[in-house]
Amino acid sequence: MHFETLCVHTGVAKDSAYNSCITPIYPSSTFSWDDLKTTKGFDYTRSGNPTRKALEENIVRLEGGIDCRATCTGMSAITTVMHFFKPGDHIIAPIDIYGGTYRLFQSVFKPFGIEFDFVPMGNLDAVRKAIRPSTKCIWIETPSNPLLNIVDMAALAEIAHKAGAITISDNTFLSPYLQRPFEHGVDVVLHSTTKYLNGHSDVVGGAVVTKDKEHAEKVSFIVNALGLGCSPFDAWLVLRGIKTLGPRMEAHQRSAQAVAEALDKHPKVEKVYYPGLPNHPHHALAKKQQHGFGGMLSFDLKGGRPAVEKFLAKLEIFLLAESLGGVESLIEYPETMSHASMSPEARVEAGITEKMLRVSCGIEHPTDLVADLNQALEGV
Ligand SMILES: *Cc1c(COP(=O)(O)O)cnc(C)c1O
Repeated sequence: MHFETLCVHTGVAKDSAYNSCITPIYPSSTFSWDDLKTTKGFDYTRSGNPTRKALEENIVRLEGGIDCRATCTGMSAITTVMHFFKPGDHIIAPIDIYGGTYRLFQSVFKPFGIEFDFVPMGNLDAVRKAIRPSTKCIWIETPSNPLLNIVDMAALAEIAHKAGAITISDNTFLSPYLQRPFEHGVDVVLHSTTKYLNGHSDVVGGAVVTKDKEHAEKVSFIVNALGLGCSPFDAWLVLRGIKTLGPRMEAHQRSAQAVAEALDKHPKVEKVYYPGLPNHPHHALAKKQQHGFGGMLSFDLKGGRPAVEKFLAKLEIFLLAESLGGVESLIEYPETMSHASMSPEARVEAGITEKMLRVSCGIEHPTDLVADLNQALEGV
């Protein structure tokens, strides 16, 4: 079956009582036993729930692993896999990693004794040099946020495996419709389902997908022990969102391509970061590794913060908001919003400046989006 068909039909036929065409929501916190040995597969919702299980079946099918656990946020998916490691272990992470992940690593897991190096992942020699005997993981985020750098997952997986480490890939920015990290040798895949998988800006959620039994068992244990599973209602919403993942991703990237091309030509724009532009430094790698260029882009506005403020005030369709992957187009300012939790030095090192804006293109008509940006740029 094709991807779009799997999106619609996986984890769905669950109601033998009434044959409902939609997966039911089972809000029950507890499930009764037939006798002291027998349940119908569920006993307590922290440990497992039929609606959450349906979502997990769906996501694992799309990513191509063996198991999935749906968590209450993307950060809790990351927290789950961080419990693979112990004090003294070393992790190599991207210098332009998602701001919330950077904060979790720096302010929670570093004081706990896990060691990190933040490295420009595009430079494979820098990654090789950062390897230590204690290196247990190379963390991958591609495309990166907000710079849209693409890194070679197969090359990083090879470096990691040679060093006896694993790779964990945060696949939030493209979704499995446009990129499947397991195909490139990655060991564990993560999502903030808040973004493209749910796609409607009405849930926060996460998922961890594994492809080997040992990781699957660890993840299942940790999610239950720490109590990180997502609620049945949230699971139901994400499962509903995923049904339209394919058509939505097509619409997102159609808009992003049009917006990137328009901004790239505009005299008030200094630089556009979108892997779908032939002038993007990683365009060829994106073409090879991804099944499309995605709905996210960033750009530098000439004139810095004063110009940014004027421009944002004029926008009519784009909402000034963090997050991404919803049907409505959003724009945000990494300097004070998504990446405010990074230190100013770390931001400078990662290449995030006061000129930069990040755009999540929704599924509106591309012509309307381009027109809105153009009229706002006129006022700058
Ligand atoms: C949003 C996001 C997260 C965190 O997810 P939450 O659902 O907000 O907890 C992690 N990684 C990436 C790439 C994200 O965009």
